[in-house]
This record gives sequence, structure tokens and C-alpha cells, in this order.
Amino acid sequence: MVVGELASKTIHELRVLLDAGTISPQELLDDLLTRLAQLNPSLGAYIEIAPERLRRQLGERLSADRRGLLWGIPITIKDNICIAGEETTCASRILRGFRSPYDATVIERLRRAGAFMIPRANLDEFAFGSSTENSTWLITRNPWAPDRVPGGSSGGCASAVAGDLAIAALGSDTGGSIRQPASFCGVVGLKPTYGRVSRYGLVAFASSLDQIGPIAKDVTDCAMVLSAIAGHDARDSTSAPVEVPDYVGQLGGSVKGLRLGVPELPREGLSDEVDCAIAQAVTAFEGLGFEVEPVQLPNIGKSVATYYIIATAEASSNLARYDGVQYGFRAAVHRPPSTVHSELMEMYLRTRTEGFGAEAKRRILLGTYVLSHGYYEAYYLKGMKVRTLIKRDFDEAFSRCDVLLMPTSPTPAFRLREKVDDPLQMYLSDIYTISANLAGIPAVSVPCGFSGEGLPIGMQLLAAPFREDVLLRTAYAYEQATDWHKQKPAFSV
Ligand code: GLN
Repeated sequence: MVVGELASKTIHELRVLLDAGTISPQELLDDLLTRLAQLNPSLGAYIEIAPERLRRQLGERLSADRRGLLWGIPITIKDNICIAGEETTCASRILRGFRSPYDATVIERLRRAGAFMIPRANLDEFAFGSSTENSTWLITRNPWAPDRVPGGSSGGCASAVAGDLAIAALGSDTGGSIRQPASFCGVVGLKPTYGRVSRYGLVAFASSLDQIGPIAKDVTDCAMVLSAIAGHDARDSTSAPVEVPDYVGQLGGSVKGLRLGVPELPREGLSDEVDCAIAQAVTAFEGLGFEVEPVQLPNIGKSVATYYIIATAEASSNLARYDGVQYGFRAAVHRPPSTVHSELMEMYLRTRTEGFGAEAKRRILLGTYVLSHGYYEAYYLKGMKVRTLIKRDFDEAFSRCDVLLMPTSPTPAFRLREKVDDPLQMYLSDIYTISANLAGIPAVSVPCGFSGEGLPIGMQLLAAPFREDVLLRTAYAYEQATDWHKQKPAFSV
């Protein structure tokens, strides 16, 4: 067997091999770890890997009971999802050394389905970003073009899945962090409905927007992982007591007559190649029997401003807990406390000054500002009102359509350093993804073409709340009719 042969397969392909006893979970893990050892140093998808410990754990953890849908499958975990006993840093110095005392609900559920966790995929610090360049530890490259970003903030996950350094992964999406890296790396990424998947054990960025979801090599794998992690959880008060349909079983269901809405969108910054790939996807859907119609989302142009008010406000309060007392890093206070600050205050100050990176500080400042006295009404409250308008636009659209189609990102993967010093340009690149988080609806990014330079292009499908079944069925029908998802980057050692 060639190194990486097993690592390049999908979950459903491996399921067959594992069930038949053709391969063992140990062989699969070994193949993955060998590939990781060879390629991670240049790709930077994982912050850290401990091969020997993983091999030992596989023996201890994997039950002999083979009934789980994900039995024997390694799943890569973004470094902001808690795994008991593992370091969870959110790619931030302030959490260095923090070991989670418990498993996130999604981890518990993956284990129950028989999966095996591979920590810790790289991300933008606290998931703040769209390029993974805001990680404190390392930059991650795009396997399709190593001088380009993998997207973010789940860039480590997407890069690993695309480069066959992961079978599938769990990322988090607050404003596009699963979908945009999936589109940049030519893989499938799904953000579930808000409340579909428990957030218990996900380090909070913006609690009213965050969702955990799968990044995978195809739609079937996405459906398999979602089936394992979805469903109500009493430990997350925003998790919804809504029944989980059989996502995998329904994939091949008929799509004839489904109504596909194509929204009119702000086109500033939209690349011709992306525009053209979306137009071709529309034609493909017509060919599959979808009824295509134009729809209006009148407030979508306000989504970037709205998101960056709400998300920073929530982030600033969520990050208040990192003060050097309870979690991770604490700065040393050498000089005697000044007359202005007590020693404790000095410790807080230094810990936060040294512990947070530039983007985290920017968001804390922005968020604190929009929540402060006198500005709360002007910014935060107004942002919440516009959020309602955006949600109503989608309600209206879904009264007439089953699924909406739009680009995931205005451009294919941009170059490393191209936007990192220009936060506004970086924020604007989220224009098409953030409205799904503001409205709480599910959305998936699926490969739909390549640019002239050979970079993957992703399209985004959106559905009404809790209609991941329709979303996956639609994505699957398209995937069956195309072979974009089968292309592999030439990336190698
Ligand atoms: N790029 C967006 C941001 O920087 C979204 C990040 C995310 O979804 N975590 O906030």
C-alpha cells in the first residue's frame, strides 16, 4: 500500500473496508500519521501532533463494539473544541497550557459513534479571522497553492482534509469559518442551524452565532458526521429539542421540483470566475430538475457591519474571563505594583497584554466600545434590529424557495499576507457567509469549479432552519452530477 492511500479515502469508503476487516483502525491511523509526519511541517494544518500518544489511545479508547457509524474513523478537531485531558489553546497564547477537564458534547457523541479524535487543527486566534494567519503558533498553507491561505478560521481543518492529512474534521462557524475555508480548499463544509449541534465545550466566540459542524471530502461524509453530532443537549440551553432526521438515508432522495432561489447580491469584490462558476451551477441545477427563480434579500448588504458589531460585542464579553486566574497563561509581575494599580490589576493587565494577539485585542476594543454607555443604542441595539431584518429576508425567501444558491466567498483563496494587515478588506471577504449566522440558518459550501490558476471555487447552499436534510440532499444531487469534489491537489513532499 502506498503511504496516504487510506488517508485519501472518504469515511464511507473506509467504512466498507473496516467493516469487511480488510483494514484495521490501527492501519488507518498509522497511514494517516505517516502522511502527517511527512506533510504537516510544510502545510501547518495541525498545531501539534503526538503520534505515540495517539497510537496508545487508539488501543485504549476504541471499543471492540463495531456498531457505530464512525467506528475506527479518525476525526480531526479544531483547537477550540474541548477534549478531556488535551490542551485546548484556540491558537492563543493566553490559553497556553490549558487542559480541558471535560469533553465537549460533540466529542462525547463522536466517541459514542466509534470515532477517534485527532487534536489539534490550527485556527485564527479564538476563531477571529478568515485566513488562519491570526494563529499565535503557525501559519497554515493551502494544499492547492502553498503561497495562498487556506481560509479561516477553520483553516487547519480544511487544509488537512484537502491535503489528506485528515479523513474529516470538526470546525466551528461564527461568520463563515467552516464554509469559507472549505471553499478555499475544495472540500465540503456545513454550518448547521443554530441550536442543531450542542455548543457545550466549544470555546465561545460569539455565543448567539457559533455553531460546530463538519468539514469533509464529500457530502456523504458530511451527513455521516452531522448525524453523529446533531441533536438536543441539556447542557447547552440554546440547543433545540428538534428530532434529527436520517441525513445519510435521505441523501439519494428525489430533488425534482425543488425550488432553488438565486438571490440578487452585492457584487463589489466578486470575481468573474466565481460569478461564472455560480452561473454554471445554476444551469446544472436546472438540469437536475430544480425550479430556479430569482429572490431578493434586501438587507444582505448590511450584514458585514451588523455582524462585526454583534460578534465583537459578544466576543469582548466572552473573552473577559481570560485574566490569568482561571485559565492557561499568567504573566509574571516582576516590578512592584505602581501606585495606580494593585498587584492583581497589574497581573490582569500584563496577562491580557501579553496573552492576546493583535486581532483579539482589536475585537475586544471594538466590542467593548459598541456595548459602552451611550453607544449601546447607536450600535449594538441597532445591529440587533438589522439582524431581525436579515432574518425576515430569509423567512420571506424560504416561503417561496427550498434552497438558496450563492457564492461562498467573493474570490478563490487569496495570497498569504495579502489582507492580514488590512482588517477591513479581510472583514469584507465574509460578505456572503455571515448572513446565515445572523439568521441562524443552515448552509453548506460545496466545490463547484476551479479558477484559471487552478484554485478551488465553492458555492454555498442555504436552507430554512433545521432543513439540513434538504440542504444535504440538494448538495448530494449536485455532487453526483459533477466531479469537482474528486479533484486532489498535487501537493506532496
Ligand atoms: N471571518 C469571520 C470573522 O473573522 C468569521 C469567523 C468565524 O466564523 N469564526 O469573524
